[in-house]
Amino acid sequence: MSTIENPSENSPHILVLGMGGTIAGLASNPAAKPLQYEAGQVEVASLLAHVRSVIPEGISLVSKQVANINSRNLTESLLTLLGEAVREALANSFVQGVVVTHGTDTIEETGVFLQMTCGKYAQNLGKRVILTGAMLPSNAPKADGPSNLLDAIRWASTPIDNCPGGIYAVMDGRGCLAMDLAKRHGSALNAPIQTSPSSSVGLINPSWLSGVKAVQELWTEDLPIPKENEWPWVEILTSHAGARSETITHWLNSKVKGLVLAGTGMGGFHDAWRDSLVAAVKHGIALVRTTRTGAGETLADLPEKDIGGCLASGSLSAPRARIALQLSLNAEKQAQAAGKSLTWQDFFARIVVLPVIR
Ligand code: ASP
Repeated sequence: MSTIENPSENSPHILVLGMGGTIAGLASNPAAKPLQYEAGQVEVASLLAHVRSVIPEGISLVSKQVANINSRNLTESLLTLLGEAVREALANSFVQGVVVTHGTDTIEETGVFLQMTCGKYAQNLGKRVILTGAMLPSNAPKADGPSNLLDAIRWASTPIDNCPGGIYAVMDGRGCLAMDLAKRHGSALNAPIQTSPSSSVGLINPSWLSGVKAVQELWTEDLPIPKENEWPWVEILTSHAGARSETITHWLNSKVKGLVLAGTGMGGFHDAWRDSLVAAVKHGIALVRTTRTGAGETLADLPEKDIGGCLASGSLSAPRARIALQLSLNAEKQAQAAGKSLTWQDFFARIVVLPVIR
């Protein structure tokens, strides 16, 4: 056992970045009603104080509060701040690894964002960034936050040959690539699940590890982090029985730069949308197609030929496809400002091609 309090930032340490969430939540009557609580109430430094006595010897911790929110209120500016804090931490030779405490509602957006903007950098430096959260508030009798936080700290600080640098997530004793963690149940206590296989935190599974390496081999270059006020506006629209063309035409004269279509089945959408979607492309709006089913891949020209310019999202869910499209549109803008003729489709295709770990 060791002490972790107030280590110098100028000596080797694990940096824990606090974003809020249930892991930092407080219930007013935790014994009787643990699920009636406010997320994002407790400072990350206090969360660390609670695990202090069980931190393995030799691990020094430094914390930084980036935000303290309910993650359903996550903003793009906060993603920018988090991405910059992660990059800065990775560049700091005293930082051995990074843990991010986060709400589970939108952890899937943050996971894909960090992979696309910091994944290669973390891998090249051999440092791990670990996202974690909790399903019960910090003062609930069976709070799961402390064990998740401990697992994340351990994983961020274990020797490098066990698992390469990169962006991971840990929940409930299991670890996965952060881009593979998503909340897929509204109320279940094990709601954040890996959308592809994971590994037990204590024992890295070799076939999972080879999947991680396959993803990392294909992810050759991080995308730029959009400036706080320069995120392109992208909306998610869901196709459903009784869909109307107005759902699309509504956006034609707006400042929307992209639409993610959460289609039915294989990512098809209602015929009532077709003409207005063609008009949207003519207006310069980027289109991406995904499935509202919550699982499976959306492939080009299935179930029918794509509208010209519209890309299929592969295995990306609608929230992930939205972040991927925003980052691709931003990357296109920056590439063109630098005189390169790369389009958002070029950048988006690099993301879609990443293999699913099976
Ligand atoms: N609403 C909470 C949040 O996302 C849920 C959680 O953290 O599990 O911040």
